[in-house]
Amino acid sequence: MIALRHLFGIAELDAEQIRYLLQLGASFVGLSRRSIRKAPTLRGKTIINLFFESSTRTRTSFEIAGKRLSADVINISSSTSATKKGESLLDTALTLAAMRPHVLVIRHALPGCCHFLAEHLRETSIVNAGDGAHEHPTQALTDLLTLQEHGGFVGKTITIVGDIAHSRVARSHLLAARKMGYRVRLVAPKTLLPRRVEQFGCEVYHDFDEAIPGSDVLYMLRIQTERLTSNCSFPSLREYHEAYGLNGRRLAAAGEQCLVMHPGPMNRGVEIASDVADSAASRILDQVEHGVAMRMAVLTALCGGGEEA
Ligand code: ASP
Repeated sequence: MIALRHLFGIAELDAEQIRYLLQLGASFVGLSRRSIRKAPTLRGKTIINLFFESSTRTRTSFEIAGKRLSADVINISSSTSATKKGESLLDTALTLAAMRPHVLVIRHALPGCCHFLAEHLRETSIVNAGDGAHEHPTQALTDLLTLQEHGGFVGKTITIVGDIAHSRVARSHLLAARKMGYRVRLVAPKTLLPRRVEQFGCEVYHDFDEAIPGSDVLYMLRIQTERLTSNCSFPSLREYHEAYGLNGRRLAAAGEQCLVMHPGPMNRGVEIASDVADSAASRILDQVEHGVAMRMAVLTALCGGGEEA
């Protein structure tokens, strides 16, 4: 049993903690498939979801995760919070913390916002649900849980394709790969790669077709238009799809065992062809399902470690 104080990122977790969260997550997959999807694990706990960036999967899965474990869950979005009236993020967080929630789940465009808030919030655990282009730890954990349930990830090669520069998901995977024993290959035009990416010890390709042989997972990323600072990162969406989109030909070249993943939201016809997204190789909806179980595991670890689970 491992209790966590906060979940800022994969950077702060060690392999043992990640393995524990995956084990706990696996135990919650079954609960979500029963006809009565409820356990008393987090009874009496209060969780606030505070989202300043749009979200479908992450916000809903944290809400369902909390409710399935009998916690009281409150959702606040930027459009309904007092930051609209000029209140700072810190004042909003201090205000919510004064209502004594056990956990504050935060998504915000500011990288490092969770570390910053944790310095001021004494008794509330903070979960990073995506901080700018920095980290998205529960997505990486969700992906590992999905792979654990579909043949494992140790020794495998996950090829991440697309807008790596702005992807917090790619960054969390680069950090997790070293700790958990899988390889990450990156595929992107130079304009969509972060500087000094070699420091992560991953293989980098600019030609998607060259990166396909030996890939166990093709992990496609959306172009993060909300974070692009120039509109000349690639010539056009059509050309981007030609060079970096996952189509039927590339999926066939990857071979029958290769899985397709995407953290969502997908832009069909841009980074992924529609028939590939719906193909037998696609684990995209499995990722969504496992996202609930993984967030149940994270909330449990934050609220005491999962003895009852
Ligand atoms: N849902 C993921 C994130 O929040 C990926 C994306 O938005 O493209 O980072």
